[in-house]
Order: sequence, then C-alpha cells, then structure tokens
Amino acid sequence: MSADQTMKTLVLKGVGVSPGIAIGRCYRFDPLDSQISFYKLNDASLIPQEVLRFKKALKESEQQLLEIQKNLKKEKVTEPVYVIDVHILILKDKIFSNRTIKYIRRLGVNAEWALRMTLDHYKQIFEGVKDAYISSRVSDVQYVVQRILRNLSGEKNEIVWEEGYDGLIIVSHDLSPADTAQMKLDKIFGFATDSGGRTSHTAIVARSLELPAVVGLDNVTRFGHTGDEVIVDGTSGLVVINPYPDMLKRYEEKKRHYDAAKDEYLKYGKLPAVTLDDYHVQIGCNIEFVEEIPSAMTHGAENIGLYRTEFLYIYREDLPTEDDHFNNYRQVVTEKNLSWSTIRTFDLGGDKFPNYQKQGKELNPQMGLRAIRFCLKEVEIFKTQLRAIWRASAFGKIKILFPMISSVDEIREAKKLLEEARQELLAQGVKIADKMEIGAMIEVPAAVVIADKLAQEVDFFSIGTNDLIQYSLAIDRANERLTYLYEPLHPAVLRFIKQTVDAAHKANIHTAMCGEMAGDPLCVLILLGMELDELSMNHLAIPRIKKIIRESTLKESKILLKKALTFNTASEVRAYVHDYMAKRFPDEFQMEDD
Ligand code: PEP
Ligand code: MG
Repeated sequence: MSADQTMKTLVLKGVGVSPGIAIGRCYRFDPLDSQISFYKLNDASLIPQEVLRFKKALKESEQQLLEIQKNLKKEKVTEPVYVIDVHILILKDKIFSNRTIKYIRRLGVNAEWALRMTLDHYKQIFEGVKDAYISSRVSDVQYVVQRILRNLSGEKNEIVWEEGYDGLIIVSHDLSPADTAQMKLDKIFGFATDSGGRTSHTAIVARSLELPAVVGLDNVTRFGHTGDEVIVDGTSGLVVINPYPDMLKRYEEKKRHYDAAKDEYLKYGKLPAVTLDDYHVQIGCNIEFVEEIPSAMTHGAENIGLYRTEFLYIYREDLPTEDDHFNNYRQVVTEKNLSWSTIRTFDLGGDKFPNYQKQGKELNPQMGLRAIRFCLKEVEIFKTQLRAIWRASAFGKIKILFPMISSVDEIREAKKLLEEARQELLAQGVKIADKMEIGAMIEVPAAVVIADKLAQEVDFFSIGTNDLIQYSLAIDRANERLTYLYEPLHPAVLRFIKQTVDAAHKANIHTAMCGEMAGDPLCVLILLGMELDELSMNHLAIPRIKKIIRESTLKESKILLKKALTFNTASEVRAYVHDYMAKRFPDEFQMEDD
C-alpha cells in the first residue's frame, strides 16, 4: 500500500509499550462515550430538526443492518443473522425510539445525549434482572446505540470485525480488555491510543499478543482517520500518520531489521541466566492467557512467574465455574518444561473489571475494592478459584500468589480460606498436592515497611513494581499525563525494592520480581545487584535480559547499585545507569537510541 500523497505526514510521540513495527491502515475505534459531543439545543425551534436527525440515523442503521444480513445470508452464515434480527427489533422498538425523542423534546438536548440517556435507562433495567444471561443482553442495546451514534456523527465505517481487509492499526482513545476481546485479532497489526501508560492493561495485553503498540499519544484520534496509512513504532514510541514514500521505505527496512534481530536474540532464550561469576537468576514469564505458554517456552521461560488469572473473568459475561478455572490451570501446570507455575489469585478492580460486575464506579478504583480486598469480601467467588488451584496442584507444581497485600491480617485471612478449600477437597477425597508454596505480592508501600513480618507468613515474595511505583510515587499508572514521573529508578523505589529483598533474604525466603521493571534491560544490573532470586517478565523481554545477565557479573552489578543509591534524584540515577549500560552493552542500547 502506498501513502496517499494528498495527505500530510504527521509524526506523534507517545509511549512505546509493545516493541516492533507495524505498518497498516488506520481503523478509528470509538468505544461509546469517547467521541460523543453532548450539547443543549439553544433554541426550541431546533427540536423538530433534531428529532428528524435522530429518525434519519435510525433508518440508516436499519438499512445497514439489513444489508449486512443480506450479505451474510448469501454466504450462508446463519448465527449472526439472528443476532442482527434482535438488533433490528431494538431499532424498530417504539418504546426505545420514543424515549429518546421524549428526552430531546423535554430536555432540549441533542440526539446523542438523549440516546445516551436512553441507554442508561436500559442499563438500569437490565442490571436489576437476576438472570446473568438476560442482564448481559444490555450489550445488544449498547451495540445498537453505538451504530446510531456512528450514523449521527456521519462516520459511515463499519466496525472492524465486519470489514473485509487485513492489516489494521487500531486507533482509539483507549482500549479496554473487553474492547480487544471483540476484535478479530488476526486482522490487527498494531495499536495506537490517546491514553494509557507502560503498565496499563492495554499495554500488557498488546505485549502478550505481540502487537506493536504506542499509548499516551494524547490526540492520535484527532489526527488518524479510518483508511489512513499508519506506522506504529512500538520500540521508540512513535506513530506516523500518512508517511511520505521515503519514510515508509525506511520503516519497512527498519521492520525487516527488527524482525531479524528478534530471531537472533531467540537463541539466548534457550540458555540459563547465569552471570560470568556464576550467579544464577531464575527467569519466569508473565502470562494473561494459556495460549501464551508456547511463546513463553520458545522465548526461554523457566517458570511462569505470574499468571494474571483475572483475565478469566474479564472475557466473559458470567462468572467462571470451578471447573472452568481448573481446566484452565491444568493446561498451565502440565507444560512439562516449566519448573513451576505461579498462579496469582484474581486481581479485579483498579483498571480491570469483569463484564458481569455491576458494582458502581468507585471514585478511586486503584485504591478501592481491588485484588485481595475484593476476594476477602466475595469469599465464595474467591474460594471457587482456590479449590480449582488446589485441584490443579495434583498435576504440576503450583505456587499461589496473593495480590495487593497490605497487612498481615490479609495474608492470614487468605491462608485461612486456602486451608478451608483444602479441607473441603480432602473431605471429598479429591487428589491434591501435599503442599503449595504461598506468596505475597509486594506492591503497596505498607507491605514493604512490614516485609519482615510478612516474610514470617509466606514462602516467597513477588515484587509488583507496576503498582509499587504507582502507590509509592502516588502516580496513576494509566495516566498518560504522568508518564514522565513514573520512574522505576526513583531513589524511593530502589530503596523499597532493596528493603524488601533484604527482609526476604534475612528470613530465608525466595524473592521474585514480576512487575515490568524486571524485563527492562536498563534496570537488569541494578536488580542483579540487589540479588533478586527470580525475574519474571513478558516473553518478548526474556532473551535480551538473559543475554545481558550472561555478559555481566554480580560484582559489577553490586558496584553499580551502590553508586546508583547515592544519587538524590531519579534523573541522576537514570542518567548514570543509562550511561553505564550504553558503554557496557553498546549493541543492546543502540536500537532504542536510533
Ligand atoms: C505489578 O503491579 O507489578 C504486577 C505485576 O501486577 P499487575 O500489573 O497485574 O497489577
Ligand atoms: Mg499489581
């Protein structure tokens, strides 16, 4: 594809969160709410016109759906045809349209606003329905509203999964895991979003899917239009809209170079992470889906250091059953080349919400009813998972990890429920492992401060720097306006990590790190210097981290760490460490500095 020469080339800088280069056609994905303008009609005489505008959009929506249905029938695809029938029924439903018209007339608001109020009304009704299936059907109303909104805005493009072509770059304000779940991923080459940071879950999902992504672009949705040619450089954090021909050629070349280098690195994946002076670090992989295990293995994972099980809840409308959990975990633990699998109990809340969850929005979800707090409140949901983890323990070595621990009480309570689950299974004669190692995530400053106490309760720690940085520096990890402050090498963060590792070693327990910092090549010697026992990261990072470890010594890492801890500011630490690493490993840091 060549760039349209009538278009202006535009380069935007954001945060590269999933490496690699993608070249494709822009698809503007507008989750409801992001682009809608709400306004009051400032003159009553505008009302009839607004009602007509709404009716026209209704008609257009119906015609489009009939057209899609006709095409599907031609191709003899039946199932979506019935779904579309439901959507047409909603469109034709007089109660639905009259309610919207009533809002326009009575409140003097534009059609978009009125439609949004109608949707809210339906949401309320559906939320009150006990039956999970019926209550989840609000998504049909939502789908119809989205289509009408698109027609109101004049945007005629169909949504991605109805389009016939491949190689799309999804340009969006933000992407929730649920948004990505609805997309035909084989047609998508990359992501570019206005909001988000390195550790937002959009970024994590992009990395796990190995799709180049740049987030925190601020206004990519303003400049990128469906059909534009777009380059996403997830390594340097650049997005180019409508590149001129020479630029496109350069990026195609860069892409070939990157893909070849990636293959070259892979050979380090097979080797152990041992320093030149014989210090061995275990290398784990972070996963969100079972489907990632083959990639984890080819990239050199020795264990699963973090399985984020909350994704089992996010991609469905109802709650997973004990068997759903069990079947899933069994697939993970039976991978024979893994030393162990660390199953983290679900971490819902924060920026990860399941589809079924109806609880009202919290003012500060990151500091709200999240992770272990949610589990200890929703004991039955938690115990369903705990029983399944025990059952899977009969098939391979599992370590269980509790997220967001901030007190000894929480860990004791979680252990008590784990024991109850064990007793229930034993009473039923179910086969389970004799023992399972229990770990606490250290991701809240309070946990660092009481690490010596927590170490007496558990078998291992896993440091979650994504949250630890967020909570210790008081920086929302998904807020693109604060990315410049989100700094793993901040002296406070370094001290917190050191304090945790020292407390763990004093108590003779294993310490892992599973936050994104563990896979950051710039930080690896600093972490080695602290003598972490295990680093767990996204699979793409493993070969490069192993290569650096194999070419360094524990001795030099300790000297580097000692020096880094003397600086007063994060920028001084970063400058010093960067300078050291660039001199020491020129090839490694060259590509990033290009
Ligand atoms: C972390 O906080 O560092 C972590 C690994 O957990 P998550 O990113 O899932 O919150
Ligand atoms: Mg966390």
